Amino acid sequence: MGLLSLGTPLHWDQAKHYADHVRYHGVTQFLNIWDRLKDRQGDELLWGDEVEYMIVQLDTCAKDAVLSLCQTDILAKLQALSSEMDAKTRSTVAPPLFHPEYGRYMLESTPGAPYTGFVRDLVLVEPNMRLRRRLARSQLRPNQIPMTLTSFPRLGVPGKFTEPYYDPAEAVSSHSLFLPEQVTNPHARFPTLTANIRRRRRSKVAINLPIFVDDRTPRPFVDPTIPWHRNVYPEDAEAKNGAALIDHIYLDAMGFGMGCCCLQVTFQCCNIDQSRRMYDSLIPIGPIMLALTAASPLWRGYIADVDCRWNVIAGSVDDRTEEERGLKPLKENRMKIPKSRYDSVDLYISESWMNRPEYNDNPLPIDQALYDRMRQHGIDELLSKHIAHLFIRDPIVVFSELIDQDDSQSTDHFENIQSTNWQTLRFKPPPPKSPIGWRVEFRSMEAQMTDFENASFVVFIVLLSRAIMSMNLNFYIPISKVDENMRRAQQRDGVNQAKFFFRREIFTPASSRATSGATTPDDDAASSRPFSTTDAGAGADAGSPAPSNGATNGFQQRHSSRPKRRVMANCFPPPPPPLEEEATGGSVNEEYAEYTMDEIINGRGDAFPGLIGLVEAYLDTLDMSELELRKITSYLNLVRRRANGSLKTPAAWTRDFVRSHPSYKFDSVVSKEINYDLIVAVDEIERGVRRAPDLLPEDYMGSEQEQDSGSLDD
Ligand code: ADP
Ligand code: MG
Ligand code: MG
Ligand code: MG
Ligand code: MG
Ligand code: MG
Repeated sequence: MGLLSLGTPLHWDQAKHYADHVRYHGVTQFLNIWDRLKDRQGDELLWGDEVEYMIVQLDTCAKDAVLSLCQTDILAKLQALSSEMDAKTRSTVAPPLFHPEYGRYMLESTPGAPYTGFVRDLVLVEPNMRLRRRLARSQLRPNQIPMTLTSFPRLGVPGKFTEPYYDPAEAVSSHSLFLPEQVTNPHARFPTLTANIRRRRRSKVAINLPIFVDDRTPRPFVDPTIPWHRNVYPEDAEAKNGAALIDHIYLDAMGFGMGCCCLQVTFQCCNIDQSRRMYDSLIPIGPIMLALTAASPLWRGYIADVDCRWNVIAGSVDDRTEEERGLKPLKENRMKIPKSRYDSVDLYISESWMNRPEYNDNPLPIDQALYDRMRQHGIDELLSKHIAHLFIRDPIVVFSELIDQDDSQSTDHFENIQSTNWQTLRFKPPPPKSPIGWRVEFRSMEAQMTDFENASFVVFIVLLSRAIMSMNLNFYIPISKVDENMRRAQQRDGVNQAKFFFRREIFTPASSRATSGATTPDDDAASSRPFSTTDAGAGADAGSPAPSNGATNGFQQRHSSRPKRRVMANCFPPPPPPLEEEATGGSVNEEYAEYTMDEIINGRGDAFPGLIGLVEAYLDTLDMSELELRKITSYLNLVRRRANGSLKTPAAWTRDFVRSHPSYKFDSVVSKEINYDLIVAVDEIERGVRRAPDLLPEDYMGSEQEQDSGSLDD
């Protein structure tokens, strides 16, 4: 959740007076970062994942599974444990880190230190995730489990769904009909975010997920579990006055979205230009990975007709007023704003010629004065627009102690706005006083139930990012089509049922010329550093693309004959200038088409090797042990099988589990008993004491079996 500053948070009525101040100084701080670091070069590949957990507590007698609000306790214990490990082992492996999250039942963990470009680091991810899960588990009571569930099926049902129980009538921050105050992390930042979003918006947030209509779901479905006539907060009437839609599951608080778990990956890039290219290239991949990792079909005790969290979380922090949402003419507000501050990216930002202006076809409100300032400072149009678009938002949490800052030292105002724009990708400038470079964070994926799956998707994205850069791949499609893909990705069984827009020709004649070896990297700083091998080769050697008439064999063969490397490069020669035909460009609309997920991932005919094919071509440039190759192949196989439908997404598996439960009444309801059995099943599957061949490969090794057989990370 970004920065956790300490201090006295202001009520929205005061905070709003500092909005221009925070934005002005935020941009000053960004300009200072720019001046200091725009020419920074040669950063090595460093990368790492973030995994989020829910602590679930089982009551075996009552057959109930609820969320344990034990975050403060468990974090203190885990942090103590990490320091102890650090002191005791003095090992080369830094002990994992645990962080707070929005929900008081949540944890986040990251590796203790980022991974590097060494090939062997790819196979450290899963053991490290497993270690983190084991550590978390070791500090909990025997009936408490750290679970990587994206959404908790019964969050917000009537009665008890947390331990201990609290009454939602006391939800002073959210005014929710369903979620008590105590689901929220007590740190001042979180209740203030929650309350100030509601105050700025002038109503509670309102999310309506279509209900999954089963054989005996009452129609029309009018949710009997909504306390329609509660009269505690003025907003209580919103539900009956139209906020809660018929045939939908209504959610009215930030906790429903920010209380979800996800899986994120951050990469450090060689320099700012390459991080801008990486950012752009991964934008069209966002919805693809969302569909592949879909894991959240159950909400507030019902089955929804969607598979993903994305729209819930977008709606859960939507602080726009009615004017900004376009429901009323503009009077008090500055502009209409098409999207929530949590949503998909609106702008490609690379200055590479591949990024044609036509691709940026979404409406893009910006703060004009801030944009002009950045332009006058010498920042190019696209990056100025990117920041000026983020900075249309107001700061929601302002701490009185932090209003006046030294803009040459602090980036707090910049981060205030930056870290409350939650998009599918985040472009992360280097923090002050740190050795960290320009980074890109990939944020669309849902948390998977097992670390095998989580590691598979993380490793896949890391390898894909290398393939993109080393082969100069071009994934651009109009960004409005990426948004359409986001919508399709969340539909029930989108992974198998939907088609997705994707670029037809991802190789360019320019990328073929890059493979001739004529290009030399101009990156001396990098070549002198241990891990950041400049990629004279890989730009050159990984990149023999299929010509557009499609000779995939040539594509594969040309890869095998090069010397292989133990280190993944991070610095790549810039793409060569376009050929004449590319420079003039044809019709953008002919550049993309609709494809199935299977085609996008596993390839279509001779012309397109699929994302897996690209990753395999890149892998072929690396020198790997047999064990490493076997592991990585098993990760790629999971991705492959999700895409071709031979393994279910967690969403499909979960929906099917509920619908085949003996006590399910085909009425879309996830009862206490079904929820309990589901949670027990997920835990048993994770540990490997129950098989789920439709969800996981046959040779999946559960955490319990793995420990028995001597784990990899000892
Ligand atoms: P946030 O919550 O702000 O997104 P976190 O600190 O929780 O960020 O996670 C960032 C991830 O990036 C971690 O996995 C961490 O290991 C990794 N990381 C740390 N330093 C770097 C770096 N210089 N470059 C890339 N990734 C890094
Ligand atoms: Mg997090
Ligand atoms: Mg963080
Ligand atoms: Mg984090
Ligand atoms: Mg979260
Ligand atoms: Mg993150």
